[in-house]
Amino acid sequence: MDHMNVLWIFAHPDQRSLNGALRDEGLCALRELGHHVRESDLYAMGWNPVLDRSDFEQQPSGRLLVGAEQERAYLDGTLRADIRAEQDKLEWADAVVLHFPLWWFGPPAILKGWLDRVLAQGLGFGVKDADGRTRRYGDGGLAGKRGLVVTTVGARESSFGPRGIHGHIDDVLFPLSHATFFYTGMDALPPYVVYGADRLDAAGFAEAAHGLRERLRALPTEEPIPFRPEASGDYDEDLVLRPDIAPGRTGLAVHRRDGGPTADRLSRRVLESR
Ligand code: FAD
Repeated sequence: MDHMNVLWIFAHPDQRSLNGALRDEGLCALRELGHHVRESDLYAMGWNPVLDRSDFEQQPSGRLLVGAEQERAYLDGTLRADIRAEQDKLEWADAVVLHFPLWWFGPPAILKGWLDRVLAQGLGFGVKDADGRTRRYGDGGLAGKRGLVVTTVGARESSFGPRGIHGHIDDVLFPLSHATFFYTGMDALPPYVVYGADRLDAAGFAEAAHGLRERLRALPTEEPIPFRPEASGDYDEDLVLRPDIAPGRTGLAVHRRDGGPTADRLSRRVLESR
């Protein structure tokens, strides 16, 4: 696919920020490449991140069974208009970019709330196949789409490396790459991370912007992270990795078929060269 529909979800409160400048670069690059782009600038939209009863046009009078109510309202078209508008954009998209500064090891609350409200049961999770099996991890309501995290972090690269104090960046971003993109059926691309963001000078920005443009150029073709699909036979009926797969190993990287994060090898090279 040459030209894609790309949905860019942006979560920073200041347009003049480093992230705002990177977002401008990213959107510009995508348009130059001929892609169709739509943006959800969550702060600029005044996006409400809080999932509650008011998400439903026909509010249940008794207990709020959140997932079941989401599914009913999704299928009836009675989720609140702001949610439906985002779901329409999502259904239009071939690729989704989640772009944010890393705050407390995750996305800002406004973006977490976009996931809570937009990836509703019936679309993002709880989607069943003809045999009644839940489609997830490598299959699901968003199968066929690609997902890319673009984030800036205050810490330096080595401290997010294989033995870095913050934990490996691939582990830190696992809730988005594995538990969100891959869970919903999307192909999770390796994240694009700008390290040492609080100290970035003009040369650092130029490098970060160039790197982002390169990654976006590869958006249609880049190999996704090789996570193991749930239906691959690698897991038993309790959803535990079979003992003959990556024997003796534990940790999040066991859910990848390539035996460990690409970033590990890249980071190792960085560390060795120091
Ligand atoms: P800005 O503050 O806008 O800019 C950062 C630097 O980039 C400035 O020096 C600016 O001059 C420079 N810059 C260079 N070129 C440009 C340009 N063209 N436009 C704008 N600025 C430019 N970090 C972690 O590693 N882990 C965490 O868990 C974590 N949690 C955090 C939680 C909170 C609540 C906060 C506020 C910060 C946290 N941080 C954490 C740090 C955070 O990730 C960085 O502050 C953030 O990534 C910087 O992005 P920004 O867009 O806000 O940068």
